[in-house]
Amino acid sequence: MGRQKIAAGNWKMNLTMEEGRELAETLARQAGEVKAEVILCPPFLHLTMVKNILTGVKGFSLGAQNCHQEMKGAYTGEVSVPMLKSAGVEYIIIGHSERREYFGETDALLAKKVDRVLEEGLRPIFCCGESLPIREEGTHVAHVRAQVRASLFHLSPDLFSRVIIAYEPIWAIGTGRTASPEQAQEMHAAIRSLLAEHFGPEQADQTPILYGGSVNAGNAATLFSQPDVDGGLVGGASLKAEEFLQIVHSF
Ligand code: PEP
Repeated sequence: MGRQKIAAGNWKMNLTMEEGRELAETLARQAGEVKAEVILCPPFLHLTMVKNILTGVKGFSLGAQNCHQEMKGAYTGEVSVPMLKSAGVEYIIIGHSERREYFGETDALLAKKVDRVLEEGLRPIFCCGESLPIREEGTHVAHVRAQVRASLFHLSPDLFSRVIIAYEPIWAIGTGRTASPEQAQEMHAAIRSLLAEHFGPEQADQTPILYGGSVNAGNAATLFSQPDVDGGLVGGASLKAEEFLQIVHSF
């Protein structure tokens, strides 16, 4: 069996409850048969509403955009993995570059979050990626490999088998500037070879590695056709039903 194909939509801090309902309903109504797992990642507040809309819709799952690293306690304003699980969440995005940059999330903190997600039987979508200066300096592969090593290499192979990786070059996120299919493939292959060294070739071969960074209806098919690109983590284009559906059907 080939690797799992995934199209995940990260709504970020966008859409009111009504707008989110309309988007999720349109996607559920118009998707038809999907070849990939489609994961909708709305804001926390919208999770239950989106879950109700997706119930019974084949191929669609619910994801969250973040979680706290502790299971419960006095952490005002935060949301725990058990809470997300009880809302029907199956996937949690961990370490999005916006969280690393604006909320100071470090590799060590992300390792803890990954642990909590796996302990509860959910699946992390672990994000990594380099800034423009790092790419221009030519150290992007080493940088991304170091991120993967720092937050995932403490896992047992068994736990690691539930991890999804998303390579998201920061210079391509929300900028309209996409990595070329060759640039994406080069990095995905470099990540996969690192996984093979540490977890073994079989684990590496079955790990989905998604590309994120200005994926749209026009570039998705070419990106997803690269041998080591197993789908996409989509921001802006996941807010438009028609465009996201075209991406979902680009496999
Ligand atoms: C993202 O949110 O992870 C992302 C890649 O955003 P965009 O598709 O808008 O670049």
